[in-house]
Order: sequence, then C-alpha cells, then structure tokens
Amino acid sequence: MIRFGFGYDIHRFAPKRKLILGGVHIPSKLGLLGHSDADVLLHAICDALLGAAALGDIGQHFPDSAPQFKGISSLKFLTTTRELLDAAGYRLLNIDSTLVLQAPKIAPHILAMRQKIAKALKVGVDQVSVKATTNEGLGALGAGEGCAAYAVASIELATARGV
Ligand code: MG
Repeated sequence: MIRFGFGYDIHRFAPKRKLILGGVHIPSKLGLLGHSDADVLLHAICDALLGAAALGDIGQHFPDSAPQFKGISSLKFLTTTRELLDAAGYRLLNIDSTLVLQAPKIAPHILAMRQKIAKALKVGVDQVSVKATTNEGLGALGAGEGCAAYAVASIELATARGV
C-alpha cells in the first residue's frame, strides 16, 4: 500500500540571516526568520513525510520553544524524521516539492539541494524533486516578504517488497 503525505510551510525574510534552502546556503542579502535555520523547504518535506506516515507534524516533534533546536540545521530535522519513518517500518518512494519566492534565483542551486536532501534521507537523487517558481509579483510572496514551500511524499511499508 502506497501512502502520500503533504507538507506546507512559510517563513518571512529578514536581514542578518543566512538564506538556507534545502540544506544549501544561498547568497542573499536577506535570510529567513525562524527558531532553527528556517529552512522552509526542509520543513515542508518533513511535514510531508510525517503526514504520509500519520506521525504528527514538525511542530510536534521539533517545537520552536525548545532551546536545543535554536539555530539548528533543519537537515537534523530531516534525518530524525527519516529515523521516525524507519522505526515505523516505512520506506520512502519519492518526494516532490516546490519553493515559491520572488528572489533570489533558485535554479542554480536545485541540484545541490536534491543531493543534500537525498543524502539525509538515504535515497537516490532521482527520488527527490525540487522545483521553484515566483509568485508573479502577487501578494506578500510576490512582494518578496517571504518564501513558501510545498512538498508531497510517497512512502510504503518496507515489508511490502519483502524486505
Ligand atoms: Mg518552518
């Protein structure tokens, strides 16, 4: 049985913050505001994975009130999420995701993001898709006030293939 999960997140841009997306540092005057490194893409992917397994959400597992998560790399959230799914007997099939932001340009960094995410999840790069689009200048995202991310994940019970 294949299960699907969906994740969404949004963070506000702020000065004096590094822009980290998909575990990759992207040169930018502004970064995203958050308790962790505010990697909106990894947060959406974690929620998609947790959702697929009905294991709650990122706020439940990594609360932003917890001092141990302050400034932490969200790659740590992703590896812990993978461990939670492993423990529940699930195997990842694929992830698809979309970043929505006006600037900077994301295309040159997509492959590096896919590689970081695949490594953290112990899957092939071909199982991880990252896409990016602008918001066509519309609304808060279009005005460059923040960055949003959507993700879908599919998983199956590891026993489904007799492993
Ligand atoms: Mg978040």
